[in-house]
Amino acid sequence: MGGKCPHRKVKKRRLSHKTDRRAKFLIKGDDMVYDELNKPEEERKALPLDEDLPGMGQYYCLHCDRYFSGVAVRDDHFKTKKHRRRVKQMMGEAPHTQLDAELAAGMGMPDNGPKLMSI
Ligand SMILES: [Zn+2]
Repeated sequence: MGGKCPHRKVKKRRLSHKTDRRAKFLIKGDDMVYDELNKPEEERKALPLDEDLPGMGQYYCLHCDRYFSGVAVRDDHFKTKKHRRRVKQMMGEAPHTQLDAELAAGMGMPDNGPKLMSI
């Protein structure tokens, strides 16, 4: 006889750590960037050294929510069409948020306050 051993177990594959780290690189929503840009300078978060990020996270474009590996790369990025369009977009009207949608629907200001953890 022979054949496959029925007791052989297949080891579960562990999730790659890459997926854990991915959130770090996800692009923020437009409204989040907009909020960030409208904050007073002192409320803006300082750029912490982060060795997972290009250029240790020190070269950051707030408008595009992107990190660059050096000041020259960032300056090059500042000249790109994509960035300029982004800046223009951020200077204009606020991007649509849930609040806008609710106001437009005549629901008025929602009175929920900040989101709390559900108990
Ligand atoms: Zn940019």
